[in-house]
Amino acid sequence: MRYLLPLLLMLLPGWARAEPAPGLAPEPAPLHVFVTLLPQKAFVERVGGPRVQVQVLVQPGASPHTYDPTPRQVAALAQADLYVAVGVSFEDAWMGRIRATNPGMRVLDSSRGIRPRALEAHDDEPQSGHGHDEAVPADAHGHDRQARDPHIWTSPPLVKQMAAGIRDALTELDPAGGPAYAANYAAFAAELDALDQDIRARLAGLANRRFMVFHPAWGYFADTYGLTQVPIEREGKEPGPRALAALIDQARREQVRVIFVQPQFSRKAAAQVAAAIGGRVEVMDALAPDYLANLRRVAALLAAEGARP
Ligand code: ZN
Repeated sequence: MRYLLPLLLMLLPGWARAEPAPGLAPEPAPLHVFVTLLPQKAFVERVGGPRVQVQVLVQPGASPHTYDPTPRQVAALAQADLYVAVGVSFEDAWMGRIRATNPGMRVLDSSRGIRPRALEAHDDEPQSGHGHDEAVPADAHGHDRQARDPHIWTSPPLVKQMAAGIRDALTELDPAGGPAYAANYAAFAAELDALDQDIRARLAGLANRRFMVFHPAWGYFADTYGLTQVPIEREGKEPGPRALAALIDQARREQVRVIFVQPQFSRKAAAQVAAAIGGRVEVMDALAPDYLANLRRVAALLAAEGARP
C-alpha cells in the first residue's frame, strides 16, 4: 500500500518527480512550466535552473503555426504553474481552452513589449491557414493590414528581453528562488550579449546582405543585423508557377548560391529554385533546441553566402 501513492504520482501525466537523495532535505517542488516552442525551453531552463521543469507544446518536427496539443499535453497543462507564450497564432486558438483547464495557471506572453514587424511578401488575403494572419494595426498613412511576423526568438537581443520577462514571472511565482533567477538571468544575458557581438562581427561588411529562404522565420534576426530575407513561401504555401519563375529570375540576378530551408517545412520549391540556379539547399532551423550554438551556425552560413564576390 505504501508504494501506491508514489506509483500514482509517477503516473500523473508528463511531469517527472525527482526523488530526494537519502539524508538530504527534499528540494522544493519544481515549478511546472509549459512553453510553445523548443528554443523557449532552453530560455526557461537557463533562467529557472533546477527550480523548474519545462515541457514543450510543439513537438520536434511539427510546424508551430498549425499545431494541436495531444490529450497527454492537455492533461499536463492542467497541472502547470506557468505558460510562456511566444505569440504564434495557434496559441490564441488554444489559450481559452488551456485557461479553462487550469484557471490558476499564470500566462506570460513573451511577445508583449516587443515591437512587431510585418512579414515579407504577404498579400492581403485573409486567413493564410498558416498562422501568420494576425494583423498589425494600419498606420496613419495606409490602410494596409499586414501579417505580423511571430518569429521574435531569432533575434538574440529580443531573447534577452524575453528572458527578463521569464525571470520576473518565475520570481513572482517562487519568491524564494528570486536571487537564483536573477543570477541565472545575468549569466544567460551575458552569453546572449557575447553571441550578439559575435554575429555582428561575423556579418559586418558582407558584400551581399540578402538571403533567400523558404519559410520567412528570420525577419527579426535580419532586422537586428542589417540583412534582408527573401522568402519563397507565399501565404504559407508553395509558390505558384509564376511566383516560382520570378523567384528563379531574382535568384539569378542576385547571384544567390544557397536556398535556406527549415526541417518543419517543405523543401520542394527551394529545391526547384536551387536546381534552376545551380545552387544548393541548406538547413537553417529556427526551432533548434541548442539556441546559442544554432545561431552561431546560422551566422556562419549567412556569412559564407553573403561573402560571395
Ligand atoms: Zn514560422
